[in-house]
Amino acid sequence: MNPVCHTLPPSQISLHWRHSFAALGTDFYAELSPESLEAPYWVGRSPTVANLLELNTSQFASDELLQAFSGNQQLPGSRPLASVYSGHQFGQWAGQLGDGRALLLGETNGLEIQLKGAGLTPYSRRGDGRAVLRSSIREFLCSEAMHSLGVPTTRALCVTGSDDEVWRETPETAAVVTRVAPSFIRFGHFEHFAAKNQLKQLKILADYVIDRFYPECRSKPKFADNAYAALLEKVSERTAVMVAHWQAVGFCHGVMNTDNMSILGLTIDYGPFQFLDSYNPLHICNHSDTQGRYAFARQPNVAYWNLHCLGQALLPLIGEPQMAMAALESFKTLMPKTLHRLMCAKLGLPEASVTQSFIDDLLAALAQDQVDYTIFWRRLSHAQLDGNTEPVRELFINSIAWDAWMLRYSELLALSDRALAADLMLKTNPKFVLRNYLCQDVIEMAKHKDFSGVADLLDVVTHPFAEHPTRAAWAGFVPDWASQIEISCSS
Ligand code: AMP
Ligand code: MG
Repeated sequence: MNPVCHTLPPSQISLHWRHSFAALGTDFYAELSPESLEAPYWVGRSPTVANLLELNTSQFASDELLQAFSGNQQLPGSRPLASVYSGHQFGQWAGQLGDGRALLLGETNGLEIQLKGAGLTPYSRRGDGRAVLRSSIREFLCSEAMHSLGVPTTRALCVTGSDDEVWRETPETAAVVTRVAPSFIRFGHFEHFAAKNQLKQLKILADYVIDRFYPECRSKPKFADNAYAALLEKVSERTAVMVAHWQAVGFCHGVMNTDNMSILGLTIDYGPFQFLDSYNPLHICNHSDTQGRYAFARQPNVAYWNLHCLGQALLPLIGEPQMAMAALESFKTLMPKTLHRLMCAKLGLPEASVTQSFIDDLLAALAQDQVDYTIFWRRLSHAQLDGNTEPVRELFINSIAWDAWMLRYSELLALSDRALAADLMLKTNPKFVLRNYLCQDVIEMAKHKDFSGVADLLDVVTHPFAEHPTRAAWAGFVPDWASQIEISCSS
């Protein structure tokens, strides 16, 4: 299957590969080569991720890597494989899924490298194993934007494209995103072996994750040294922190199925995601999510529901249902606590001085007047610098509610150092987020082989707190045409 098509000159790339996932055995994956793409070209590259992998500038521009990351030749020492997992999709058990279009090459410098869109695998089901240019650019840019906003996430090294045709609703072209993370293991990997009652494999997987990522779980007196309960608690904590960041920054994931939940609490599988424009807690960013299961404000509850699926899967190893329930408890305290901390930083106020109702009142005012979430916070930050609150007030129709809230805010601010608050707020409230319409613009350019927009937008969203005066337009209100954009699961 999938012949490698190039005759290779000696490799210039010397990555030191390890294959700890492959060492788990063939119950966990199928080894196969990527499918080739005709005449690939670079679409986007992240130098910071290249640094993490210790790839130098000339290597990162080399034809060898272009071919390797397009599936046309294999990097020496890599060992491509597609892993098997299952999962709950939109609340229903979906059975076996697996890497239908992603191939893990192995790990280097403690990071796994995965090609997304590299062709058919045994888990492709009815899919074609491919990813299209538009969704690949979105995943690439958003991974890096989220990281720069301090949100736990998988990373993206690059996107390569080809004129090879891929059919979605209309003909599109193929692309591959090269993703990077310490691990791509999902809740669904555990659900897979639990559902098949393959307890030996379930234990191998859990031990692997504990030994590699959560060694502290081996000695947790709280759980009577039950390492699997401790694992569930750790994952609950990481997930709580991740989803709190989403809520604070206004990020809507769109497809929070259990197969899209990372065991490391990283944002993973960017599809129909959206940063909120106007603040609407019930916003649904995924056009296919007709019931609004994954609406913005529901994300914390969905994360908790997903953690129960993981708990259910780990139950044969944990043994005691009560212990599993106790392990999940941490989510309920840590998610609101982390969100509170993040919202206080956005307000430039010490945590102890801010009540939940103070934050809720603000969010209610933002929702009522459909105020742009990012612009509001940035203007509020600037108001601390120059003392002029008028640009913030202008955002509200109901200025009575706003004035009442602002009075309370001023009283709280009076107790703290305003310059310090301004400094913190300008480093916490981004000027730029990756709005859908910004993606759309650079995708259109990329379709016409102009990739400068991808590079420019990458630069801006990876320095989201800087002013970028020449890019002021990208920090403005969403243009009217952008409200027509509909993003579905199709990618
Ligand atoms: P997603 O909604 O992207 O998280 O994908 C859900 C499942 O469908 C995963 O198992 C994917 O690998 C698989 N999948 C999505 N798109 C494709 C495709 N074009 N070809 C093969 N498998 C796919
Ligand atoms: Mg997925």
